[in-house]
Amino acid sequence: MHILACVKQTPKSDNVKIDPATGCLIRSGAESAMNPFDEYALEEAVCLKEQLGGTVSVITMGPPAAENVLRDSIARGADKVYQLGDMAFAGSDTWATSYALSKGVEKINALEKIDIILCGKQTNDSDTGHIGPQISAWLQWPNAAFVRRVVQADEKGITVERLTEDGTDELYLPYPCVISVVKEISDPRVRSVKGRLAAKRAEVVKWTADDIGADKTKLGLKNCPTRVVKSFAPQRDSSAVVIEGANGKEKAAKLVDLLKENKYI
Ligand SMILES: Cc1cc2nc3c(=O)[nH]c(=O)nc-3n(C[C@H](O)[C@H](O)[C@H](O)COP(=O)(O)OP(=O)(O)OC[C@H]3O[C@@H](n4cnc5c(N)ncnc54)[C@H](O)[C@@H]3O)c2cc1C
Repeated sequence: MHILACVKQTPKSDNVKIDPATGCLIRSGAESAMNPFDEYALEEAVCLKEQLGGTVSVITMGPPAAENVLRDSIARGADKVYQLGDMAFAGSDTWATSYALSKGVEKINALEKIDIILCGKQTNDSDTGHIGPQISAWLQWPNAAFVRRVVQADEKGITVERLTEDGTDELYLPYPCVISVVKEISDPRVRSVKGRLAAKRAEVVKWTADDIGADKTKLGLKNCPTRVVKSFAPQRDSSAVVIEGANGKEKAAKLVDLLKENKYI
């Protein structure tokens, strides 16, 4: 089995700020780490390897510092890591990002045939949830999103339980396929000492747009179909009412009156 996890380096907090002047996310200066959902995707990849044997590879597209999440992936049980980095990728929207990742996948697939790609449900910065389904569309591989449990997996395919608006359903996907996972899928393990040592020594394979045979007219800000018209942090109106009173009973009575007055009860 060859399982590929997609991980992204994102700001450590989910309190990501927007520059009011440019409307862009403020990434510089923010401490970065592996996107939280990707920890679960990687853990599930390592669990599948432990169950079925094989290799876990990890891919990221990002700036030079994104190498850190690849070394962290080795510490968490991955075997091989690949970084797509090139100024040609800068400013890519989800369409261009997923295109670049799909070209990286094709190159890895040519080296060692991939069975499953695992992505997180979404990131904690751009937060679209597009990338997993879009990679599957570029590759024309079957896809399941919001997967919360692997019901059964063998050498030919995988049966998963995914969340739907009404509950859950079960899907069988023959390999190769792409799956996006939610947090219920696994419990990320603590990094082992052996893993941390391996992370320091690991070779990070780095590829440019040319290395993966990407069409540069599909990459970067000027070639993206997405146009961001405006980004802003929602304004919070502080409309709290402080209920005064001599004691708890009096305050509770006033609160009940207020709720009745506003027809909440
Ligand atoms: C016009 C425009 C310009 C932009 N410019 C930039 C820019 O200059 N720099 C920048 O960092 N972002 C930029 N972005 C944001 C960037 O397009 C998205 O962050 C990226 O496409 C991933 O989308 P997402 O974060 O919503 O991922 P989601 O779709 O929410 O992620 C789902 C899953 O896909 C996988 N995944 C997502 N991104 C990656 C990745 N890079 N590598 C590997 N796996 C991944 C992970 O498993 C993740 O859990 C720009 C967006 C737009 C619209």
